[in-house]
Amino acid sequence: MSSAKYRRLLLKVSGEMLAGEQGYGIQPSILEGLAEEIASVVALDVQVAVVIGGGNIFRGIAASASGMERASADYMGMLATVLNALALQNALERIGVMTRVQSAIEMRQLAEGYIRRRAIRHLEKKRVVIFAGGTGTPYFSTDTAAALRAMEIGAQVIMKGTKVDGIYDADPMKNPAAKKYTEIPFMSILNQNLKVMDSTAISLCMDNNLPLIVFNLKVKGNFKRVALGEPIGTVVTL
Ligand code: UDP
Repeated sequence: MSSAKYRRLLLKVSGEMLAGEQGYGIQPSILEGLAEEIASVVALDVQVAVVIGGGNIFRGIAASASGMERASADYMGMLATVLNALALQNALERIGVMTRVQSAIEMRQLAEGYIRRRAIRHLEKKRVVIFAGGTGTPYFSTDTAAALRAMEIGAQVIMKGTKVDGIYDADPMKNPAAKKYTEIPFMSILNQNLKVMDSTAISLCMDNNLPLIVFNLKVKGNFKRVALGEPIGTVVTL
């Protein structure tokens, strides 16, 4: 029997997490570490879905600020998430974790297309499902894709792995006096404009009562701790 608190969860990892100190691209040691973290939760008999971002390679909004049409730039951003998804799939399979990549943008030679019922079936068979391509539409983010997919597959919680310990009232990297919340309502995140996830993603979680936990994914063992229900990070409540 699993001692984990959750039966099915969705992990959101930003592309930036994969870049590490170099600030761009994929750092192999970080990718391997992430795969180990995911494997440790799969070993608890928890069904794990992953949404991966693309900000380590390309961000639509940044490119549109320098003149590119926003929709085209966003499609490039979505392609970046596919690169990360394939890299993570490879890292997981090297350590014996079965995976499937499902892309919101059809790319049949590389990944399955997103089919909700098929994704659920993979999860039931203990395969890690990596959702690539965000929502498949420009002007959205992979945080919103995470909220959407988590609801569609009936995940009990979204776990957003970040570089900091949780949600603070100010940026802890810039302000050492910043205070960490152990719990915070969705509405306060919106009202205080805290940079946790974009407002579309937060609103989706809030409107559909989907719990969110923000935690530090850089600390080894943390993903397993959150999956076991240890009170680390910040729990976002209604
Ligand atoms: N993107 C998009 N629609 C989506 C998800 C992502 O257009 O549903 C694009 C957008 O340009 C974004 C880029 O893909 O900047 C990378 O995703 P995101 O910024 O969410 O990645 P993260 O910050 O998590 O690394």
